[in-house]
Amino acid sequence: MNSPEPDTNNIVRKNGFQRPFEPLQAMTWLLLCSMIIVFYGLIIPQSGLAVQAALGVVYGVLVLISVWSGFVACATDPADDNVLQRMSDINGTTAAPTDNIYCRLCSTHVNRSSKHCRYCEKCVDGFDHHCKWLNNCIGKKNYRYFLILLSSTFSFTLLELALFVVNMVQYLVEHNTYAAKVERNYPSGTSPLALFVVNWIFIGLLLPVAGLLGQLFFFHAMLIHHGLTTYDYIIQEQARDRERNELAIKRNEERQRAKEIEATTNAIKDTEVAA
Ligand SMILES: [Zn+2]
Ligand SMILES: [Zn+2]
Repeated sequence: MNSPEPDTNNIVRKNGFQRPFEPLQAMTWLLLCSMIIVFYGLIIPQSGLAVQAALGVVYGVLVLISVWSGFVACATDPADDNVLQRMSDINGTTAAPTDNIYCRLCSTHVNRSSKHCRYCEKCVDGFDHHCKWLNNCIGKKNYRYFLILLSSTFSFTLLELALFVVNMVQYLVEHNTYAAKVERNYPSGTSPLALFVVNWIFIGLLLPVAGLLGQLFFFHAMLIHHGLTTYDYIIQEQARDRERNELAIKRNEERQRAKEIEATTNAIKDTEVAA
């Protein structure tokens, strides 16, 4: 169990919509709203009429999938069933042991894949990680929704970024066509050059978001490929680090011993020569 010392004052949270809230949680929804406003307010009006509707629908569907999966992942209680049973048991009796793991913080037996989360104060079945962006644990019960959220968010972020680049290329290659679209879709007097600069600012802001999402997406694809959870991966990496450190210490000790033997041998030789 990767758990802190018991704290009876801590509240067991059911899901990500319960206190205490995370600043990153507010950031998630703020970022999502900002990206939607930028897409429909800035990017779409710069696109050709024929593609505006199609892209608007594709982006809208991806956003809806993202909001739905994010909501479900956040609202799900990923607790181990034994913990849920114990919490709802009015007699306070513990659930029948399903495995030989007992969590003293939850005061019940839990599944072998469960881990106690110090943020949620409960054991989570198939624990993957505690997501601060959703303010909820990701485990067996909501991992698929987390993956849908990650994939759809990464997809519409890439679409947004790609369209920014397409618009910028058109500004440089087909300047007159681009200027005509700006004149048609924006208030009169809007400068294509000013829009070009604003686009680059948003590309600069969007790139780290796309990078972070891409990193997470490929990381989880790798975990699924190897049949690991994030927690398994961290434990595995820590064990490898320990092994590497122990090996480095052992090699260092061997080198030190070899130096000492060499120094002693040289000292004996010197003594023999002097004699
Ligand atoms: Zn526990
Ligand atoms: Zn948690």
